[in-house]
Amino acid sequence: MASTKVATGAKGPTPMMQQYFALKREAEGCLLFYRMGDFFELFFDDARQAAAILDIALTSRGEHDGEPVAMCGVPVHAAEGYLARLIKAGCRVAIAEQVETPEEAKKRGGYKALVAREIVRFVTAGTLTEEALLEPRRANVLAAVCELRGTIGIAACDISTGRMELEECTPESAGAALARLGASELVAPEEWDAAPEAAVARPRHDFASDEGEARLKSLHGVATLDGFGNFTRAMLAAAGGLVAYLDHVGRGTLPFLQPPVARTGHATMAMDEATRSSLEILSSQQGGRAGSLIAAVDRCVTGAGARQLADDLGAPLLDRSAIEARLALVHWLHDDPLLRADLRGVLRALPDIGRALGRIVAGRGSPRDLGQIRDGLAEARRIRDFLSAKPDRPALLEALLPAMGGHGALVDLLQRALVPSPPTERSQGSFIAQGYDAALDELREISGNARRAIAALEGRYRAETGIAALKIKHNGVLGYFIEVPAKHGDILMAADSGFTHRQTMAGAVRFNSLGLHEEAGRIAEAGGHALAAEEAHFEDLTARVVEARLLIADTAAALARIDVAAGQAERAAEGGWCRPQITDDNSLAIEAGRHPVVEAALTSSGGKSGARTGSGERFVANDCVLSPDDRLWLIGGPNMGGKSTFLRQNALIVVLAQAGGYVPADRATIGLVDKLFSRVGASDNLARGRSTFMVEMVETAAILAQAGERSFVVLDEVGRGTSTYDGLALAWAVVEAVHSGNKSRCLFATHYHELSRLAESCEALSLHHVRAREWRGELVLLHELADGPADRSYGLAVAKLAGVPKAVVTRARSVLDRLEQARSETGGIAAGLGDLPLFAAAASAVHDERVDPVRQQLDLLDVDALSPREALEMLYSLKRLTTEREP
Ligand code: ADP
Repeated sequence: MASTKVATGAKGPTPMMQQYFALKREAEGCLLFYRMGDFFELFFDDARQAAAILDIALTSRGEHDGEPVAMCGVPVHAAEGYLARLIKAGCRVAIAEQVETPEEAKKRGGYKALVAREIVRFVTAGTLTEEALLEPRRANVLAAVCELRGTIGIAACDISTGRMELEECTPESAGAALARLGASELVAPEEWDAAPEAAVARPRHDFASDEGEARLKSLHGVATLDGFGNFTRAMLAAAGGLVAYLDHVGRGTLPFLQPPVARTGHATMAMDEATRSSLEILSSQQGGRAGSLIAAVDRCVTGAGARQLADDLGAPLLDRSAIEARLALVHWLHDDPLLRADLRGVLRALPDIGRALGRIVAGRGSPRDLGQIRDGLAEARRIRDFLSAKPDRPALLEALLPAMGGHGALVDLLQRALVPSPPTERSQGSFIAQGYDAALDELREISGNARRAIAALEGRYRAETGIAALKIKHNGVLGYFIEVPAKHGDILMAADSGFTHRQTMAGAVRFNSLGLHEEAGRIAEAGGHALAAEEAHFEDLTARVVEARLLIADTAAALARIDVAAGQAERAAEGGWCRPQITDDNSLAIEAGRHPVVEAALTSSGGKSGARTGSGERFVANDCVLSPDDRLWLIGGPNMGGKSTFLRQNALIVVLAQAGGYVPADRATIGLVDKLFSRVGASDNLARGRSTFMVEMVETAAILAQAGERSFVVLDEVGRGTSTYDGLALAWAVVEAVHSGNKSRCLFATHYHELSRLAESCEALSLHHVRAREWRGELVLLHELADGPADRSYGLAVAKLAGVPKAVVTRARSVLDRLEQARSETGGIAAGLGDLPLFAAAASAVHDERVDPVRQQLDLLDVDALSPREALEMLYSLKRLTTEREP
């Protein structure tokens, strides 16, 4: 470690500490990596935090204000790995490099001068481009969010590939929009009360819409943004905040940004955060990819394809023709297994050109990245030629093919210029191919000759001195030198030997000679010139790639889309999935539907074909047929019977279909779903200080306020978090409201038998149950859906199955008998409901509530439980709701 003194004496901070503090202020809350020789050092709290996260030794060095200065360090050559761990742990890091050599510092400021240091870069989760720090199969999104006159603007980009999109939404739907983006880093204006918790606060003036517009125009060299789309003021304000942050983080160098795309909420299916997490679309509720929908579906062979698939599943389409276009491509590849296998074989070998391009444009590219662009573009062209020769190409493919060619001149240039596998390190040279530059070849020739001359010298000196063990060696300190074992040292030490002494080691003595000095000089000179020449070529080649960046990004996108389609076709073929029919009506007819994740789990846990049903070894397919006059299915049956699996599988099939893929069913007709809601298996949100029941009610309120006739709602066990009477009453009222108010397609699972009486009053509601049987005292769950109400709950049988002691189950049985006896005498807990003015009278009231979110919020409010601050926030939010609703 460098030995510079960190300490502060009684006279105040040392110059080094002053420099450190100045840089630390500039780092604005980031950890500061302070370069000292071969290490990045961290001090004070930074050191404590980093040492704990990285599990490295915390030491101290000197004192500051009478306290020892905590310190830890990481070696520069291994910094990337440490950075990755810090970023994963949620840190942001500023890198302060030495920007001059100690010699330059001395020349500038005398013997004691401190080496100048500057922050050269910020490393943050949303602004990574390094291959080692990124997950290949996940987009890395940075988002900026702000509010402008009551609407929310969101700007998002993935700088590793340059994608950028802008969106505007209401404050209420901002959560869903951000959930879809899944940003790894979020920035928002400082002092904004409604800013998302995790957002990095940035100066307010960065988020000015005219500023944003100006930045985008200059970035893309256009006089107007109209050519890219229609952008609102709120979108531009967010874009301003985003680009300003990138500028700050890159210290003035902007990364790769493609022209922004305006995303309108109407183009994709709305899914809020609760729906996404309950359906486990991109990650399971445990947090990882394992167990999620994408893990069960993804058969892409490239990282870019997997990222595109995640994007598709996160934002299913609403436009029937766009969905059909994707489906047609999947179909084409599905029906031709040989073509698919060939294509996937070629795609598998493709380098990730999107990300290589991101690094190159950000100024962090390497010769290897240039090589990847070369190979990727050459391969893209071959794939285009291969696919162009196939008959009956679907329209989407026809639209993609042109983007895969057109790089002939660039590929040719890179092929001539680069060696076959260029290194990641560019400072050592050796990446420009022989024959590309005659002057460079000559320089290489000179140093090659000199090297040969040195080898010849060695032989000559051996002969002249008679020392067979004489060697000519090279190291970083001495350069070239002659080395002989110590016992022969005297011969060369002789005054007229022609050798000059340089160093005496234990056992060896080192010398120089005039001849060696001359040849070594030739090598050094030619080598220096060669390096400079290679560097110049690197800059030139980089500039050529940067020039073509938009076309290269199009090529990468086309390849990713083809990989997604081929992967979906592969998955469909593997599982016997079908092409869904997409319609514009409110139907939903799924025959023999399966849950892709549960089915895969059963298969991989050794499911034997032909095994007994109900043993949990083979997945039981089920139908789901909803239509305008039978649009709400109430599903009963025992716990563990497969209710929530059924609910979720139908929601997932809708997601897969509208994302443009095949679905795990024998046949499926999907009337386009505009909003999807899923509340399955109350996920405890206790960490956020809300009880399960409260969460359930907040989420239910959101559904009642937002779901419409084109929506699909799956609800599981509403009301189970509270007492039986409360729960039943709420479940009852919610079913009525969804049925007659929202009129959405809905699957509602419940264990309340009493709800079956709703079939008497709700004309578009029907009763179903998952089948179970008791056989020789054992419960057999058939996981099979049947018409009609559940006959009984099997709660005790499930308890027995779960290993509750026999004595307890027997006791429960006798308690149950008593309860049931009492129930039949009094008419049961739903006894009075026969007289309730069932739904008709209440329907209009329910409808009113649905269209008045203010009233709904007020109804849900527990005034006594509010803190003054929460009350004020609530007032603001109510106020927002009313202003938004005014015409
Ligand atoms: P419920 O919601 O009725 O309590 P779940 O849907 O959670 O039941 O299902 C419980 C378990 O039963 C699942 O984890 C799965 O292993 C199995 N299961 C559910 N549905 C099926 C099915 N259709 N075929 C085979 N096994 C199933």
